[in-house]
Amino acid sequence: PKYVYTWGNGKADGHGKMKELLGGKGANLAEMTLIGLPVPSGFTITTEVCTYYYANKRTYPKTLRAQMEAGVANMEKIMGYKFGDSEGFPLLVAVRSGARDSMPGMMDTVLNLGLNDKTVKALAKATDNERFAWDCYRRFIQMYGDVVLGVQKREGEDHEPFEEVIEAFKHEVYGKDIVDSDLTAEDNQEMVKRFKALVKERTGKGFPEDPWEQLEGAAGAVFGSWMNDRAIVYRRKYGIPAEWGTAVNVQAMVFGNTGPNSGSGVAFTRNPANGENELYGEFLVNAQGEDVVAGVRTPDPVAGMAQALPQAYKDLLKVRQILEKHFTDVQDVEFTIQDGKLFMLQTRNGKRTAAAALKFAADMVKEKLITWQTAVLRNPADQLDQLLAPVFDAAEIKKAKEIAKGLPAGPGAASGKIYLNADRAAAAAQKGEKVLLVRVETSPEDLRGMIAAEGILTSRGGVSSHAALVARQMGKVCICGASAVEIDYEKKTVKASGESFKEGDFLSIDGTTGVVYGGEVATAPSEIITGLISNNKAAQKTEKFQNFVQLMEWCSKATKMGVRTNADTPEQVKNAVAFGAEGIGLTRTEHMFFEGDRIDAMREMILADNEVNRRKALKKLLPHQRKDFFGIFKALDGKPATIRLLDPPLHEFLPHTKEQQLDLANKIGIPVETIMQRVHDLHEFNPMLGHRGCRLAISYPEIAEMQAQAIFEAAAQCVKKNIPVHPEVMVPLVGYARELQLQVEIIHRVAAEVKEAKGVEFDYLVGTMIEVPRGAVTADEIAEYAQFFSFGTNDLTQTALGVSRDDMGSFLNSYTENDIYPKNPFASLDATGVGQLMEIAAAKGRATRPGIKLGICGEHGGDPSSVTFCHKLGLNYVSCSPYRVPVARLAAAQAAI
Ligand code: ADP
Ligand code: MG
Ligand code: MG
Repeated sequence: PKYVYTWGNGKADGHGKMKELLGGKGANLAEMTLIGLPVPSGFTITTEVCTYYYANKRTYPKTLRAQMEAGVANMEKIMGYKFGDSEGFPLLVAVRSGARDSMPGMMDTVLNLGLNDKTVKALAKATDNERFAWDCYRRFIQMYGDVVLGVQKREGEDHEPFEEVIEAFKHEVYGKDIVDSDLTAEDNQEMVKRFKALVKERTGKGFPEDPWEQLEGAAGAVFGSWMNDRAIVYRRKYGIPAEWGTAVNVQAMVFGNTGPNSGSGVAFTRNPANGENELYGEFLVNAQGEDVVAGVRTPDPVAGMAQALPQAYKDLLKVRQILEKHFTDVQDVEFTIQDGKLFMLQTRNGKRTAAAALKFAADMVKEKLITWQTAVLRNPADQLDQLLAPVFDAAEIKKAKEIAKGLPAGPGAASGKIYLNADRAAAAAQKGEKVLLVRVETSPEDLRGMIAAEGILTSRGGVSSHAALVARQMGKVCICGASAVEIDYEKKTVKASGESFKEGDFLSIDGTTGVVYGGEVATAPSEIITGLISNNKAAQKTEKFQNFVQLMEWCSKATKMGVRTNADTPEQVKNAVAFGAEGIGLTRTEHMFFEGDRIDAMREMILADNEVNRRKALKKLLPHQRKDFFGIFKALDGKPATIRLLDPPLHEFLPHTKEQQLDLANKIGIPVETIMQRVHDLHEFNPMLGHRGCRLAISYPEIAEMQAQAIFEAAAQCVKKNIPVHPEVMVPLVGYARELQLQVEIIHRVAAEVKEAKGVEFDYLVGTMIEVPRGAVTADEIAEYAQFFSFGTNDLTQTALGVSRDDMGSFLNSYTENDIYPKNPFASLDATGVGQLMEIAAAKGRATRPGIKLGICGEHGGDPSSVTFCHKLGLNYVSCSPYRVPVARLAAAQAAI
């Protein structure tokens, strides 16, 4: 089989669509070569070799070496240099890892490979540049020693060992810290000597001199890094399967460190923070690429290239256009300029904030680069809530004290208690604190802390530093390179503008402007929220608002599946409708019983020991419920409302403390002993599987009667006031058709009575929740009585998995870490298990009652991948909490495109 794919000189074995085999980097290097961009020649070792490697006790296919030799020969021919040449200019290569998507935790790139004591001299001679040659060699030993030979910081050490050696040298010779580019040829030569000694000391072996040994070592390190802990943690978080494997890219070096006419940089073809249509990025003169992202020297904004390297800058702007036109998306590129000539080293679709994604998509439709359908797909559904995230309260922020400024790297407003280490940040967040992670710079080890934090603040590094990239991807607020912030890890303090903050003190950061504030600052809703919900005219004029509304219109155009909301109050209904909800998918009537002194009547009802007394108490509840339903119907203005009858276990409503019991005894005139006895009687060992749902109204039909009466009388009121109304009465927790049959009889009887008594007509539906496995598998029988099903996926997950949602905290982590749960099954639908029950229920329901209306009202209704599943199942709607409605609309549209 073919394991090696070459590219160079306008030709390539592979192309951009071969990411599975070649990895993202390799595929796009081939693609850029094919469209005529200046890419140094090289080859990709495929992901299949990685798979082979792990399937065969970490060994390689037999033919690999010969194919690599052919790959190197191809590069030699194109470049005109020889690998390992100790006479003329030696071919040096970069060895670069290449998963389908760039992945922190994978082996870092090794540059300048092929250098040894002989070739370094040849390089110096051929370029007539001793400093450059020894600079390359020093870098090579450091990188190779670190990432391939594992010469790294040990426990208890504060600094990277190579850095330690450099620092010591600088102080010894110069008496101060100087930048690496100021080291002379002799200095670098000395560094090489000391580095080699360090390698020998740490590994017990000499530094490998043979270029082929170096190359195989580096390639092996890339494959080996696929299974290291950090890579595994990352894959788990982003759901990347371990089977994918990584590719390895071997590419001819181009040099950004030959002098002032050279340099390296990274850029986005548009601004990935706010979406502006401008080249965005940074570069360093006389540097190799790693310098730009390593945070060692703080790079300059890419616009500065116009002066420093004018021709290369012009070329870069041209490349920007070509790339966007070809890939029809914003690109994130890496480039190097060698003696004034531009080389492209990487391109990929740029990560972006939700705000940038929205603007990119809207602008590119206007520019006719993409269709509106593509624009819908370009907005990640799981990031959309960033747009709805709060900004700082305008009044509060005026009063806040600005203590530092950094680079705005992830927009939004965050206020939280500062922590200087990822573990402590994660622990604090676990306890429910709002946390800001503050670091000099971040590395993949900080991932846990970054996930836990509301926002991230670093004192070093640019907009393409690790912190910035990861924050944007996770949608975290982020400021980086706030150099005025002094961080003391030992004392656990942060100083800025003469003020000192301890761990646990509040700071606030504005990731849109880059300003750091001392103390806590209240936040305010985003323009989209105020524009939609408060009808704020100024907000509605903003581009962000208009792009958002446009996006939502496109979504409606793309999908047939409706989005409803879970709402219990007119206020919630109003918000959800503003977000585009087409009705209510779930009203939980029991929430209404906790308001004011209604709970007393409720308790009286539960405590009643005979039907007469129970009816007396229910009568007191009736007007409250009727009023609530009327309010909701009015807010819906004719949109359908699914109302669930009483669901939770009765004991939830009972007074559990002695005080409450005495109080209630006084209020309703029952001896406190009776109350205590009844509370005791109602105790359940497992309330979630106890006397709840329709079981309550099976025991006490008058409860269902009262609720039906309240619903239909409210409907009758609407009709009289000319408000259109469509109630859908939903019976919870049905597992037997007979359960539903009994309830349905009551509901229809009460409906007829109300129509008769009020002299009005209205239509309504009666249906059920499918939320226990028996209900799902007997859905054909149940559908005899149900005009609709709504999947109650919270309970269905609980009962199908046999896992209590409230008790899973103690093992959820071990279950995700051991790859048992791909994701929390209560957040993201377990499509293979619970999903199968839904499929069965949908099919059986439709068999009995073709066209039966189907929906979902569990938490999953607002989770993008669950929404996709619901679309495939052909549900009529999903229902979710009001603020998730836009997310669900977007996910539904994307599923349909
Ligand atoms: P990552 O995936 O971490 O970005 P890369 O393989 O892209 O790693 O390499 C990082 C940097 O190394 C690049 O941005 C570039 O500056 C430098 N680099 C990679 N390949 C070459 C090359 N062939 N010549 C010169 N520099 C290179
Ligand atoms: Mg890169
Ligand atoms: Mg339920």
